Amino acid sequence: MANLQLQGELATAFRGVHSTENGFTGHISMERGAQLQVPLPEKYTRMSAEEIVERIGEARAKLGTRLVILGHHYQREEVIRWADFRGDSFKLCKDAAARPEAEFLIFCGVHFMAESADILSAPHQKVILPDLHAGCSMADMADIDQVEEAWDALTEACAGQKIIPITYMNSAANLKAFVGRNGGSVCTSSNAKKIMDWALRPVEEGGAGGEKLLFFPDQHLGRNTAVLDMGFQLEDCLVWDPNQDMGGNTPEALQKAPILLWRGHCSVHGTFLPIHIRNIRKQHPGVHVVSHPECTYDVVLASDSYGSTEKIRQIIAAGKPGDVFAIGTEINLVSRLAQEYPDRTVLSLNPNVCVCSTMYRVDGPHLLWVMDNLLEGKVVNQIVVPEPIASQAKLALDRMIELA
Ligand code: SF4
Repeated sequence: MANLQLQGELATAFRGVHSTENGFTGHISMERGAQLQVPLPEKYTRMSAEEIVERIGEARAKLGTRLVILGHHYQREEVIRWADFRGDSFKLCKDAAARPEAEFLIFCGVHFMAESADILSAPHQKVILPDLHAGCSMADMADIDQVEEAWDALTEACAGQKIIPITYMNSAANLKAFVGRNGGSVCTSSNAKKIMDWALRPVEEGGAGGEKLLFFPDQHLGRNTAVLDMGFQLEDCLVWDPNQDMGGNTPEALQKAPILLWRGHCSVHGTFLPIHIRNIRKQHPGVHVVSHPECTYDVVLASDSYGSTEKIRQIIAAGKPGDVFAIGTEINLVSRLAQEYPDRTVLSLNPNVCVCSTMYRVDGPHLLWVMDNLLEGKVVNQIVVPEPIASQAKLALDRMIELA
């Protein structure tokens, strides 16, 4: 009963993300918030690229230290050129924390990133997402109602076994909150092994004492970490399909498996295939293939290296003139690396453009629009994670910060 009441309260809170002095009326739903992006005033859509650049530069100068612009690696060039900090989502949240004097944090990324920045930033800071349509299909694959149902079924099927929930940073705030209140942690692609090790380590050795872990929402990061970094077998990893009864598993199989993986994936990284690696090795003998761990196990296994966006950057930086790299990650980062290291050949592993279409929604006109509003004293597209979601999600984020 108490659990049901809590779920009801959380669902209500979840639907109650504020819009602020932005002209929106009422409350917007966190997961539906993207539908409420107002169309840009026509003048922004009519401006030339040159005018947009000029006006963003002017607005940037006027806002000074009141504003920090955060740019994810997957953002397009016309946006990331304005970023005070570039990086992955967690690095950007930490970078923002180092600028407490900033009143406004414009997060050029996607919705879950802005939520995390709001949770981790100081109370006086306002986090702004230039386009509310910028979501993440992977984060959307772990719907909180399905997660709660799965948890109830799992804890019943595995009665007596301690299950630790772990969620990838790429998840909605309500999933982070679920993980926080159930004794788990957030992880990034850089520290997934550390966090999963902690989940399964005995309490007396400083771990969470889990007999198994449930990893959200990216099955590939979970599997790649468990098998390639932690020494588990593929058979130790069981996929929970939220659209099937018992996740598509028998109670016996669930009891036996130490690693349970939510059936989610990144549609961008899912486009890379082993055939791309075979082809590129034929075309460029000696090529160094680097993939992101959101790629499938087969792709990561066939690569020479794998790692987070930060690690990919480090690998290219450590290369020598003349080296050839084929990268399995979003195309904007690959193109930028190719420009930054012109003495190396940096190629996309997939010859077809693999752009993250939601990241791509943030463009110069939207950036200028939110900045112009700030100059007029209005905050548009503010992302506010309500209580108790924010403090429960912070528990899971703080656990990661403590452990990593
Ligand atoms: S690249 Fe994949 S995981 Fe990252 S924001 Fe886009 S859809 Fe989400």
